[in-house]
Amino acid sequence: MQTVSNFDRIGEENAFAVLARANQLAASGMDVINLGIGQPDFPTPPHIVEAAITALRDGHHGYTAATGIPELREAVAADLHKRFTAEVNPDNVIVVPGGKVTMFAAILMFGEPGVDILYPDPGFPIYRSMIEYTGANPVPVPIREDMGFGISAEETLSLITPNTRLLILNSPANPCGGVTPRAEIDRLVAGLANHPQVAVMSDEIYDQLLYDGEEHVTLLNYPEIRDRLILLNGWSKTYAMTGWRMGYSVWPDSLYDKVRKLAVNAWSCVNTPSQYAGLAALTGPQDAVADMRAAFDTRRKVVHALLNDLPGVSCILPKGAFYAFPNITDTGREAKPLASELLEKTGVATIGGPDFGILGEGYIRISYANSEDNIRRALARIGDFLADG
Ligand code: PLP
Repeated sequence: MQTVSNFDRIGEENAFAVLARANQLAASGMDVINLGIGQPDFPTPPHIVEAAITALRDGHHGYTAATGIPELREAVAADLHKRFTAEVNPDNVIVVPGGKVTMFAAILMFGEPGVDILYPDPGFPIYRSMIEYTGANPVPVPIREDMGFGISAEETLSLITPNTRLLILNSPANPCGGVTPRAEIDRLVAGLANHPQVAVMSDEIYDQLLYDGEEHVTLLNYPEIRDRLILLNGWSKTYAMTGWRMGYSVWPDSLYDKVRKLAVNAWSCVNTPSQYAGLAALTGPQDAVADMRAAFDTRRKVVHALLNDLPGVSCILPKGAFYAFPNITDTGREAKPLASELLEKTGVATIGGPDFGILGEGYIRISYANSEDNIRRALARIGDFLADG
């Protein structure tokens, strides 16, 4: 059989392979601690689960509009207004099956041979995978430790060419836990005025996971680029809903019908009870979000202190999301073999930095979406492993 060549270029997310191996080792009796996968370790808040059950009992078993139930699109717009005073028309919102689907749609919409797409490196691996799938040229935007793992506007703008069609941004960021400061975003948006052909996809899926009183800067609040901005967001991280497959995006008028048609062709609509759960999440009490954020914050400080005590390891304090990205260069080890040995020999799952891009060498990603006790046990094991050389 001959498949199209695009499929030979499609990549994946190693976090899922690590999860599978971690589960295999656990099934064989090993005490595995998973600091590899990026999902909250909390259950979905009960009132959200109840809303899905009620939806099923109330007979919400059928298709919905491809773009999502109107009340949910309205709730998304209201939530963005409440949190950021951003003006969003519900008619520009589409509910999609998970945050990933927005990047899939946006990259498919802009990528083809001859086109440059800029994406963060280290960054979420699916950006590059999908860019390569389309045949477009992936252009990494360096994410550097000495910039606090945020982007440099100047460097990003310098990478834009007449062939650049899409710029992917992500703050707070996976895998480094960095946050791009407002001043840098201001400069970037100002510079984009010189490149009107460049669309922007801003992945803000961690927008509620910021610490130390930092405020999220949404690209929605830059009117000068709203006509070329795609906002990616969703329920997975904020409401501990990774398995519900609930995401949303905001598209400019000129692109909305294209994404709507893609939805009709590919997924028809998002699982109906999940949409009612998503509605309860946005319109119900937000205490669970605050509680989860507080727990992540405590663990963030623990993980940061413990990592800096490990031989050959240094780590800047992550500002957002639930990842630490320690620099392991002084251990004298390469990141991927280290991550794999840590799993096989100590039962601690982490992800090697190169799984997030070329610039990830010298780092591993630690997800602190795990209990404080597990984090302490895991880091003690890593410490013993490194000390034994
Ligand atoms: N964007 C980023 C930066 C992520 O880290 C993730 C998940 O890890 C996603 C998008 C995808 O989220 P979802 O599980 O809702 O597809």
